[in-house]
Amino acid sequence: MMNGRQYEQSLRELKLEVYMFGRKIDNVVDDPIIRPSMNAVAATYELAQRLELADLMTAVSHLSGKRINRFCHIHQSRDDLVQKSKMGRMLGGHTGCCFQRCVGMDALNALSIVTYDIDAKYHTSYNERFLKFLAHVQENDLTCDGAMTDPKGDRSLSPHQQPDPDLYLHAVEEKPDGLVVSGAKAHQTGAVNSHEIIVMPTIALREEDRDYAVSFAVPSDTQGITYIIGRQSCDTRKLEAGSVDVGNRLFGGHEALVIFDRVFVPWERVFMCREVEFAGFLVEKFASYHRQSYACKVGVGDVLIGAAQTIAEYNGTAKASHVKDKIIEMNHLNETLYCGCIACASEGHKEPSGTYCVDPLLANVHKQNVTRFPYEIARLAQDIAGGLMVTLPSDADLRSPEVGKWIEKYCRGAEGIPVEDRMRILRLIENLSLGTAAVGYLTESMHGAGSPQAQRIMISRLVDLKGKQRKARRLCGITSDHGSGKA
Ligand code: SF4
Ligand code: FE
Repeated sequence: MMNGRQYEQSLRELKLEVYMFGRKIDNVVDDPIIRPSMNAVAATYELAQRLELADLMTAVSHLSGKRINRFCHIHQSRDDLVQKSKMGRMLGGHTGCCFQRCVGMDALNALSIVTYDIDAKYHTSYNERFLKFLAHVQENDLTCDGAMTDPKGDRSLSPHQQPDPDLYLHAVEEKPDGLVVSGAKAHQTGAVNSHEIIVMPTIALREEDRDYAVSFAVPSDTQGITYIIGRQSCDTRKLEAGSVDVGNRLFGGHEALVIFDRVFVPWERVFMCREVEFAGFLVEKFASYHRQSYACKVGVGDVLIGAAQTIAEYNGTAKASHVKDKIIEMNHLNETLYCGCIACASEGHKEPSGTYCVDPLLANVHKQNVTRFPYEIARLAQDIAGGLMVTLPSDADLRSPEVGKWIEKYCRGAEGIPVEDRMRILRLIENLSLGTAAVGYLTESMHGAGSPQAQRIMISRLVDLKGKQRKARRLCGITSDHGSGKA
């Protein structure tokens, strides 16, 4: 297993084509806007070195028998699934942001199931290819980007109907030694901190869309791949001197638009090629795992609740009964989220491939809660923080020889609390609820791993409504099932 430093070094060896603010970034690792996101992924390496976290952060590979980072592991039991949820909460609390590495773990697990099932139907050799790739990932302790979301263009049109065929990533040419693909993947979490990009289709597909039913893995610096970093609210604060105004001075996340311009994929790296009926299945498996992964938001919620309690104390309002009650409400919501990610793991099952998968209904319910509760937790944190969170002068004003004394005098809260500390905690709440980390804590909670409607469709599909009707009818003495099935 690599440690944080070795991981950082491994990224320096990549030759990525990265653009931000219209310019090519030559030194990605040290770029002040990207670096906090690299630090967050590095934490997944660094914490795996700690003996007391070994159960959480590491597992024994079912391929090699060696101890590996849990992010490279294929779940072999329900306990593995539960540990994954606990690891997500712990890391969310440690970093206070999106630590990015889960998408790759979820893609690996989904492919371990789906490649096996495709082979069972078509006698192909995708699973063997996949296991070879997995061994490479485990042996080298790699970070993978699980790339699912296509740009999608006109949402009312299927992939092959789009005026521009590249709006969904697809095979454009078949060669004796591999496949050539074009298209893009949007919103790619942690893309430039990844060694490998694992591509999957984004929706269930029909026969006319068969060129879009492709899944494969390529090294992140493969020729033809370009990354364009997405903006985040308040991102340029990272370019300023001083550490107060960024809120989270250690960690962050990033997303990128990843362009594939005639990228060549050797056959041994192709895990699905035109088996259309398995595209939707792969999407569902990945989505179930990734909806469980939103255990991370519980950890970030822990940070925000801790920040809210701290500012209440700094403001001198912590003893007010309504403030106490708001903190209880925040904890209630956050622990309810935790219930969901633990429950879907505890109710996991073994797939034919041997991989353990979460309960899909409970994973979808969990993620549906995640689309809502963090917003309410953030609202309550802002309520407790007060308006100063958004009108506070800058770090530079605090240090100014001219006006610093006025900040010291008028931004003071409870007796004995340094003004700088009050500013720091306010900026952290701002960061989590409005700034760069709000991308991860709020909008990603809404749309990451599928927007709310995607979970509602899955809930309606997975729930046993007829069974519930039977229970109701039996109790009140209805013996016939007339009308049943009519909406
Ligand atoms: Fe992992 Fe959460 Fe970030 Fe998704 S949002 S990659 S689950 S930390
Ligand atoms: Fe995500």
